[in-house]
Amino acid sequence: MKLLLHICCGPCTTYPLPVLRDAGIEVQGYFYNPNIHPFREFKKRMDGVRMLAEQEKLPVEYEQEYGLCEYLRRVVFHEHRRCQICYRMRLEQTAIKAREKGLEAFSTTLLYSRYQNHAAIRALGREMEEKYQIAFYYADFREGWQEGIDRSIDMDLYRQAYCGCIYSEQERYDRQLRQKKKKQGECENNCDR
Ligand code: SF4
Repeated sequence: MKLLLHICCGPCTTYPLPVLRDAGIEVQGYFYNPNIHPFREFKKRMDGVRMLAEQEKLPVEYEQEYGLCEYLRRVVFHEHRRCQICYRMRLEQTAIKAREKGLEAFSTTLLYSRYQNHAAIRALGREMEEKYQIAFYYADFREGWQEGIDRSIDMDLYRQAYCGCIYSEQERYDRQLRQKKKKQGECENNCDR
């Protein structure tokens, strides 16, 4: 079977790729992630995928255009369900691309992450399968979570600190800010002045 694998980043590919190959599947990669912001981060993750692709001899097609506007147009005013919109954008485009390429199936490295809504990704994959009449290859790659992390460290791949969108970046820093404030509060409370 020839399959198009949507790739969100290098580390999330390290486990699914050998599993698919071991199952006798011929894998092509597809980097399409309008949800990764800001631009420097987008570039870093794309470069990380290039590094993995070289080491793994994986053919990958890269959508190199920075998709901030496209992503925001879909998400603004719907922030509460932004992940659903984000999964849909990426899975739909992957299904379309797989059909264009004449492949037999598509899948996504999002199925590897413990931080994503796995059930929603699976349901959307099935929906796209129906819509575009191309098989969605489902597997629960989360079982290889630690193995994937270990491999990405061994391969010296760039490992990101947040999911991708500017909202997830804000959440990351907000947490840090809260911790910082808490520390300052404790300091002040313990001060004799
Ligand atoms: S948190 Fe992650 S999955 Fe959700 S919208 Fe942002 S980039 Fe997409």
